[in-house]
Amino acid sequence: MNTELMVKNATQVKVDEFLTRPLRMLIDGAWVDGEHGERELIDPTTGAAFARVTRGSEANVDAAVRAAERAGAVWRELTPARRAELIHRLGELIHEHADELALLESKNTGKPLSQARMFDVAHAAETAIANSGWATRLNGETRDMSRPGDWHAMTIRQPLGVVGAIVPWNAPLPMAVNKTTAALAAGCTVVLKPAEITPATTVRLGELILEAGIPAGVVNIVLGAGSVVGEAMVQHPTVAKISFTGSTEVGVRIGQACAASMKKCSLELGGKSPVIVFPDANLAKAVPAVAMGIFGNSGQVCAAGSRLFVHQAIHEEFVAAIAQFANQLRVGAAGDADLGPLISDTQKQTVLGYIESGIQEGATLVCGGDITGPGYFVRPTVMTDVHADMKMVREEIFGPVLAVQTFDDETSLSELLARANDSDYGLSASVWTRDISTALTLARGLEVGTVRLNSAVGIDPALPFGGVKMSGTGRENGIEGVEQFTEIKTIVIDLSS
Ligand code: NAD
Repeated sequence: MNTELMVKNATQVKVDEFLTRPLRMLIDGAWVDGEHGERELIDPTTGAAFARVTRGSEANVDAAVRAAERAGAVWRELTPARRAELIHRLGELIHEHADELALLESKNTGKPLSQARMFDVAHAAETAIANSGWATRLNGETRDMSRPGDWHAMTIRQPLGVVGAIVPWNAPLPMAVNKTTAALAAGCTVVLKPAEITPATTVRLGELILEAGIPAGVVNIVLGAGSVVGEAMVQHPTVAKISFTGSTEVGVRIGQACAASMKKCSLELGGKSPVIVFPDANLAKAVPAVAMGIFGNSGQVCAAGSRLFVHQAIHEEFVAAIAQFANQLRVGAAGDADLGPLISDTQKQTVLGYIESGIQEGATLVCGGDITGPGYFVRPTVMTDVHADMKMVREEIFGPVLAVQTFDDETSLSELLARANDSDYGLSASVWTRDISTALTLARGLEVGTVRLNSAVGIDPALPFGGVKMSGTGRENGIEGVEQFTEIKTIVIDLSS
């Protein structure tokens, strides 16, 4: 057997061995069982159970929050440089265990191994390393005051305290790493909760956090139902901020609950992102990018470009090219698959329901639809003859379904903007044209948090990312993301006395 294969097999054995033990919670540096028994984890490529996970209670959350509160003093006693070093070490460890984490994330979510390796794990490591740098770069300012007098005025940035980080199932590892390392860089301590159905990589992350030398209690991981563990985090009086990524429905409830006690919260929620393609665009580049912008991760991406507006002059050829691209994507559980399954049977039935509702309302199914058999697979789907009022155009599907609408030379840019902005959501958008004034006019007018010109969806640790309208509030990534874990305090000194 060659060395590469032996290493691969050894990694697989390690992952299998990790999954033979029930996954437990990390509280105050110790691995503990939850008070609400266990549940099975289901492999979405087969529908079969592959591991067991403990389920936490309100009391488990309380213990985790108290541990994080105690550890706050320890964490903040370290110099910013030392905190940066420990977060950086975590990023290195994620790199070093990339193959193992990718295998685990692939099992955890069903996504193809190559995608887990190239996107999820690589992004998680990059994010930890990028966020580590902020630990030494968060500063206040001195200010010149408007009032007359002999003043020295300044601001300082202080960590909020204990942060509750709540993560969904579509990219469990990078989102857990992003929220955790941004909060740590700001000097906060963390109680982290993965989605109940995808906790595996978060638990392994907890082991790496301890291995990196991050002190006990600085990061705690609680496992269990959103309605129990998540609610308890949101209600806990010691939690200073909730950093939530998930559905708009749950995000709204969390926002309301936080408002009642003035708890800070950032909400990264759903999307229904427009993609606008003009005839002068580089279509050879646009076709695969637009296709993967909606079909990547089987459409389970908050910023997925799900509403395509294509100019009438290229409509037929562009839709045919997207459909051809979609039809050659390999959907399945094999190592060389391009797309994996949806996360659960419930999610699959939801996606099929949206496709059916589109057909009922008069849309044409160009390609895609159900794949029968074990696992929760749906083929990448393109639908034309759709109009703005259809349910499948208005609501987030969170599946591989592209709804195509057209515009033409008679459509003014303001009309096009009105159509693209005709959505409750406002997360991201992409525009494909070589005309700089068209591109910038649309970029300025689109009601979203991020606009990509001649490129598809992508999240970069350096760039603020977040939504407007029902896509949420607050930003993650970049200094804006880290600053949201701090409070500004103003200090004024009267020098005349
Ligand atoms: P979800 O809202 O059902 O769950 C997200 C997390 O919240 C899970 O950990 C869940 O256990 C927890 N939760 C559920 N109910 C809760 C409650 N009452 N109190 C506290 N926590 C609770 O979302 P999901 O189905 O896991 O994820 C899919 C959604 O996430 C989609 O709408 C998608 O658009 C969104 N998302 C947004 C972004 C973004 O950055 N904007 C990124 C990824 C996913």
